[in-house]
Amino acid sequence: MEIGIANDIPTYSGGLGVLAGDTLKSGADLKLPMVAVTLLSRKGYFTQDINDNGRQIETPTKWEPSKYMTLLPEKVYVQIEGRDVAVQAWLYIVKSLTSGCIPILFLDTDVAGNNPGDREITSYLYGGDQIYRLKQEVVLGIGGMRMLHELGFEIKKYHMNEGHASLLTLELLIRYKRAIEDVWDERLVWDVDRVKDICVFTTHTPIEAGHDQFSYDLVLQTMGELIPLNVLRDLGGKDSLNMTRLALNLSEFVNGVAKKHGEVSKNMFPGYEISAITNGVHSFTWTCDSLKKLYDKYLPGWANEPELFVRVGRIPDDELWAAHMETKKALIDFVNTETGVGMDYDTLTIGFARRATAYKRPDLIFRNMETIERIASGKIQLIYSGKAHPRDENGKWLIEKIHAIKERLKGKIKMAYIRNYDMDKALKIISGVDVWLNTPLRPREASGTSGMKAAHNGVMNFSILDGWWIEGHIEGFTGWSIGPSPTESTLSADIETMDRRDADDLYNKLENIIIPMYYHDRRTWIRMMQNAIGKNAYYFNSHRMMRRYVTEAYIR
Ligand SMILES: *Cc1c(COP(=O)(O)O)cnc(C)c1O
Repeated sequence: MEIGIANDIPTYSGGLGVLAGDTLKSGADLKLPMVAVTLLSRKGYFTQDINDNGRQIETPTKWEPSKYMTLLPEKVYVQIEGRDVAVQAWLYIVKSLTSGCIPILFLDTDVAGNNPGDREITSYLYGGDQIYRLKQEVVLGIGGMRMLHELGFEIKKYHMNEGHASLLTLELLIRYKRAIEDVWDERLVWDVDRVKDICVFTTHTPIEAGHDQFSYDLVLQTMGELIPLNVLRDLGGKDSLNMTRLALNLSEFVNGVAKKHGEVSKNMFPGYEISAITNGVHSFTWTCDSLKKLYDKYLPGWANEPELFVRVGRIPDDELWAAHMETKKALIDFVNTETGVGMDYDTLTIGFARRATAYKRPDLIFRNMETIERIASGKIQLIYSGKAHPRDENGKWLIEKIHAIKERLKGKIKMAYIRNYDMDKALKIISGVDVWLNTPLRPREASGTSGMKAAHNGVMNFSILDGWWIEGHIEGFTGWSIGPSPTESTLSADIETMDRRDADDLYNKLENIIIPMYYHDRRTWIRMMQNAIGKNAYYFNSHRMMRRYVTEAYIR
């Protein structure tokens, strides 16, 4: 549904889309024969402003596709509510310095001849209601397949990135329908095994509510009976069409995006074989300029061979620190210009930026105001950023809460909330802080990728043991954990208890380990920065991830 390939192409909302973009960048670097399909999102996700009360204000994002991509003349049609809706594609090519390249097709229904409502189907990423979402998924899954066919692509494997694209399996079922007459069971007409053979599915969501479900009434009304309803119910769920279940039933290879997430998914969908391929980030994209220069000098070739990070010890301590300070200063200057909060270069700076939503607990560090004031006044400064989904009232309220706390802590802890989080700001903030804080409620962080970006920049992770951090964390070596180990059963504990335990641990480590080390043991700090690069960036990059998709999912 979303691909974040460049900052100015606002067809992404967050981690899922940016991961898709990183996937394609690594695919191009590795010269993999791939083509990607997504929606144009002509009005983007939204542009975020925040008023004086900390209230988020959303406006459609204006951008001009023709500046970045080319509209192809081919038209395909999908049936929506009985109408033939025309779909066109904008072509963007991901080009790598290795000369590899991957086309992306951005599907667009804003085509002359379509009725005004249908022209808006590809306008808003994650906008509208259930009906709008299903129409988008028809365009993506079925329209996408027809466009690939129309353009003459011959596809050996279809990789569905999240369940949003699962309707493509129906188009495949129709394509490979067996020509048997007089079958005693109509279901034999549908060659499920053949479709399974060529489909790969990656799930990204560790909670039930995160999976798209549509009532069959809505399905019939929107897309008609593409395949007989009884067959669809066999494949997509008895009571409603569950896009994840549809993809699970029609994919030979299924994976979660971190080891733990693979386990969680297995429990959520018993009876399916679910593997795990832990996410990675595109090293070249997510390394700041000052460190890029340093890596070029000491680890030439690192961008296309992130394994070279294993030799990070070649970089002299003082040069690593100087490169970090260069980026940190640029960030502090940026924050001061944006907000006038007057941050300084030498204070331990902690960053927290990602989608604003309840389970990510951006306010956990303020659970006990007296404690945070006591241990951190004058010793830390905090930089926040992140958008809340327009219908996520809790998420919006959290942004307001952070703003209120910022006022309350004035003169004690300097805080800033940077508006309109995007890929450029992500790199700026993540690479320029000293510590990257992540406090999700277990086990809801399927993977998380921003911490991997931090590691690429020698920024220390201080995080709940969930998602990728369970695999990347070595205490006091690559960063620090918050809260209990993931093996400890947390399902039985209530949220209150978990919040308290996690916050207590956060305070304890901040006061007794992190703040003292930052100010009084720079040598150990720099050693840890090296470990983050040599152990975490070395592994949690999308080159490694793509090699695994190829060997474990695509060519098996
Ligand atoms: C990497 C990235 C994310 C993902 O952040 P998480 O902390 O992993 O959720 C979200 N938004 C943008 C713009 C990003 O670049």
